[in-house]
Amino acid sequence: MRLYDIHYHAFDLSHANLLAFLSRDDLITPEALHSLMKKLPWYMKMIPVGFAQFKCIEKLIADKARHFLLHESGRLRSLLSILENAIESHFLYIDYFLQNKTPIIQPLTSNIQPPTSIAPSLPLSVDKLILCPLLMDFGFKNMGSQPQFYDIPPGKPIVTQVVDMINAIYFYYHYEFVKDPGSIGKLKTVEIPFDPASRFLEIYPFLGIYTANYSLQQVERIFEKYFSGFENDTPQSRRNKLFEKMGTIHLDITEISGKKGDPATRKDLNYLFAGIKVYPPLGFDPWPDQDDERTKVELLYKRCIEKNIPIITHCSDGGFLTDPKGPFYSDPSQRWSKVLTHPDYFNLKLDFAHFGSQKTGETAWSQAILKLIETNPNVFSDISCRGMTTGFYQSFKTVLNRSNESRFLFGSDFLINMLWIDSYNHYLDLFLRDTNLDDKIKTKISNKNAEKFLFG
Ligand SMILES: [Zn+2]
Repeated sequence: MRLYDIHYHAFDLSHANLLAFLSRDDLITPEALHSLMKKLPWYMKMIPVGFAQFKCIEKLIADKARHFLLHESGRLRSLLSILENAIESHFLYIDYFLQNKTPIIQPLTSNIQPPTSIAPSLPLSVDKLILCPLLMDFGFKNMGSQPQFYDIPPGKPIVTQVVDMINAIYFYYHYEFVKDPGSIGKLKTVEIPFDPASRFLEIYPFLGIYTANYSLQQVERIFEKYFSGFENDTPQSRRNKLFEKMGTIHLDITEISGKKGDPATRKDLNYLFAGIKVYPPLGFDPWPDQDDERTKVELLYKRCIEKNIPIITHCSDGGFLTDPKGPFYSDPSQRWSKVLTHPDYFNLKLDFAHFGSQKTGETAWSQAILKLIETNPNVFSDISCRGMTTGFYQSFKTVLNRSNESRFLFGSDFLINMLWIDSYNHYLDLFLRDTNLDDKIKTKISNKNAEKFLFG
């Protein structure tokens, strides 16, 4: 089976807005702190005793915290190890672990043999994994209100992410990781003949756009640069063109940004991206009140409809929250509902990510999504970052019915989901083995629906 993961992230430390990352309220949770504190019960009781002991306790807490980070926070360290890896080898790295470390997702075809005794046979066999890495336009916002000396926000121009992403895809189709016989425990990179059809992954990234970072003219230029020709596509030609372009382009930043106001020199940037990602928690307002900002989002929607470009919008009340109005902008019943009920934008193909997850466990947002799905055939929702336990699939099953099951999409939210799960392997394994959803439904949400959303 071709399994589509419609919601994936591949970034490194330079892409993410670290301040936004560290201030995620799901990174350091009361539970994590509690589990750390549980390791110090006797000492904690001594805190009021006296200053000398308190100093000693401070050191103890620091030691324990360091120990926790180095030896017990496996997930955090795994996450950091991926973030620290060179972005160009991201897909090689993930592919290598999918094929070599249990749970193994796909029987290996290349020269490295997995330990057969522990390779499980999965109910659905995955021959190809299709990833849609979503770029996030972190822009220049977010310094927060806390005083600090270097108080001009670091620029995170999306163009550097574009270069890194396209080059990472190029790298994946031109190289392979193999065990280095000369150095145990290490991998070496070897060149391979270019043949994307023979590789386990297919990669169709989504471009992150935050309209407030651009002028109206620049928004228009983004569509000319990356999406020219899309308006003439059939589902089949869209699919073919994206596949044919994949892994063929290697970029230099000067070629796509243009120097000193010169236009970019590369003219072959179309079909590198399959869709567009918007991210309300960082401040993207789907239906702004101000005229100039409204004009820009309307241009975005208009072009996406004309060119049949799918949009994915973050839809949970968490995430990289840097704008206090983020949850309001993300709420499907607020701004988005205005967009989708506008007669001009009814045909916008939109995926509400994370099925509207809310921290409190309330379901108002997912109910709002279900309502939009009912009334609009172009609305989809992905379950990325939700399938962390079988409990989720159990409750998800009760939501599905004949009329809405064609609108759900499988997604992981990897690598963000590593805050809650050990690896990408584990997330896929949980989905493939889950017995709440039958194979027909699984195939629908991870294949048929995804193809319709991406190409159709
Ligand atoms: Zn995400």
